[in-house]
Amino acid sequence: MNRFKHATLCLAVIVVMTLAGADQEPAAGNANPFFSPYKTPLNTPPFNLIKTEHFLPAIKEGIRQQQAEIEAIVNNPEIPSFGNTLGALDASGRLLSEVNAVFGALQGAETNPVIQGIAKETTPLIAAHGDNIRLNEKLFARLKAVYDQRAKLKLTAEEQFLLENTYRDFVRGGALLDEKQKARLREMNQQLAMLSLRFGNNLLAETNDFKLVLENRDDLAGLPPSVVAMAEGTARQLNMPGKWVFTVQVPSMTPFLQYSTRRDLREKIYRAYTMRGDRGNDRDNKDIIRQIVNLRCEKAKLLGYGSHADFVLETNMAKTPAAVDAFLKRLWDPALARAKGEVADMQALIDREGGAFKLAPWDWWYYAEKVRQEKFALDDTVLRPYFKLENVRQGIFALCDQLYGLKFIEHHDIPVYNPEVQAFEVRESDGRYVGVLYMDFHPRPGKRGGAWSGAFRREHYEKGKRVAPLSTITCNFTRPTADAPSLLSVEEAKTFAHEFGHSLATLLSDGTFRSRSVPRDAVELPSQIMENWMLEPELLSVYAKHYQTGAVIPVEFVQKLQSSRLFNQGFETVEYLAASILDMTWHELTQPQPGLGVDEFEAKAMTGIGLIPEITPRYRSTYFNHIFSGGYSAGYYVYIWAEQLDADAFEAFKEKGLFDKATALSFRKNVLEKYGALELMPQYVLFRGAEPTIEPLLRRRGLMDVR
Ligand SMILES: [Zn+2]
Repeated sequence: MNRFKHATLCLAVIVVMTLAGADQEPAAGNANPFFSPYKTPLNTPPFNLIKTEHFLPAIKEGIRQQQAEIEAIVNNPEIPSFGNTLGALDASGRLLSEVNAVFGALQGAETNPVIQGIAKETTPLIAAHGDNIRLNEKLFARLKAVYDQRAKLKLTAEEQFLLENTYRDFVRGGALLDEKQKARLREMNQQLAMLSLRFGNNLLAETNDFKLVLENRDDLAGLPPSVVAMAEGTARQLNMPGKWVFTVQVPSMTPFLQYSTRRDLREKIYRAYTMRGDRGNDRDNKDIIRQIVNLRCEKAKLLGYGSHADFVLETNMAKTPAAVDAFLKRLWDPALARAKGEVADMQALIDREGGAFKLAPWDWWYYAEKVRQEKFALDDTVLRPYFKLENVRQGIFALCDQLYGLKFIEHHDIPVYNPEVQAFEVRESDGRYVGVLYMDFHPRPGKRGGAWSGAFRREHYEKGKRVAPLSTITCNFTRPTADAPSLLSVEEAKTFAHEFGHSLATLLSDGTFRSRSVPRDAVELPSQIMENWMLEPELLSVYAKHYQTGAVIPVEFVQKLQSSRLFNQGFETVEYLAASILDMTWHELTQPQPGLGVDEFEAKAMTGIGLIPEITPRYRSTYFNHIFSGGYSAGYYVYIWAEQLDADAFEAFKEKGLFDKATALSFRKNVLEKYGALELMPQYVLFRGAEPTIEPLLRRRGLMDVR
């Protein structure tokens, strides 16, 4: 694109200026803490000095510096080598990534209109900067020169991995296409971006459109007071005082489906949910889907792949659509059999109660809830006292000590972005410094929902010296009250362990380069494996102690927690797998099909796998945001693929002992330390002695011997 060429030319001028003035502080930057070495404990970001007005100039300067570094690489008169091309590219952009990491963390955990305004300004700048690098033909020419002679270069495994991934990313971005093809690719990328945007906007409008407005108390039959109160609040917000409103947002709809005894109303809200984007109005998504799948197919073929799924899966651990399909099919048969068993149980319940009807999809939550109450009911308020936040944290620390010998020392002098944030220095058992872990537990205005792990700095080596990582965990856990500390739900305790697992991979990482490449279907391995320990009696006895009495959680509670894991797994697995298979079917098209009927295509795919009428795929096509608007195309399967990995990996600990040091050391050395720095599968095999098998996952989901 001309615009980029022009920008590159201008940069050459800036480069000279930047280099000439390298000794001096930028004129306006005297007070900008990003422009001088941090004088903080452990070289952590100086939050005591960073102000919002520092971000924009620091990001702009970061972009300018990296552009200068890229120019220096492409204009290097020496012949392209790994070091002067790949190594230099990997080392470039240090300031930008540092500022971005801090800014990104604040965007998530401590945002405000000023930060949002800065993000609006910097997002396109950073996107264009990324394009300038990826579309830089001179850079690619050097890269290709190194790549073409890679066999003779005697590279280390990590160097080879970096070279192959970087080269592949450029090629997948179209670097090998001729000018005409590149123009078509850019055109398709833009069309796809706009179509995805429209898909998402339509879906949002469709979701907001439907309201179940109830005016009579009779219509609330079966609903617990908390659910009624929530519906009353929704009505008030919508200026309908004295009424009750349910929407097709999942947190509003699910409790209604779970508790309402009004079958007619359950059907009404359920149908409204499942028909979103499929109503033939001006927000119908079917034509958009047709265009998206056809464009994706054309794009994949232009880049030399058989289908969009082939293109996507090349960089995943699964590698091929055939591998994903076989994996999903292996789970599908037993899951479907189990779901049919669940249908029979619920139908028996309906018949016993004298209901003269056949179980329908809108009945599932209601009858599942009845079965759950009967078999596994464990009151949340009874459990929470055993999961005091500080106790859970100590439990996870103890686990990391047992497995990896890690010590977590609270460090009060490390600057933080909010007084609630706690910073821990992480050390090996012999005292060697590992990194810093920040924890930010409770909701605040300005923090987005959910829980996540991130980093202010990623581990890498500079001139042979390890640069320590700074990792973060951000959550929205129940706050302490005037008379009780923060008491977590079991789900929250597992979430804590999950995010801690991501942070462990960041902290223990020991790769040479800053660039990392983790296959999307393996991202959740380090996190999900940590969840396994949390409900094991051996660890529960260490940390799950009543916050008032100190008594360890009773055995019968633990047993109920364990057995309830299998509850409703047929349904959960089937509705998830059906959506995953639908996703794969859409993206395995090998030719664009202009006349495609979306509803017919979906129906055929679902009949083909024998989906029962009592279950709808978790997402029907017209509201499958993950794959048509959210970047998970040919990738909705990744959640359960990662579960296969973590179940298989945890099996090693079950075989050798939950806290077995040798197993932990092997997991650390082979998997965690090289996560994203080397190809995962061979590393996994070094740890486990074999590729992962599906049996541990089948056992965990209760699908092992189902017929
Ligand atoms: Zn995760």
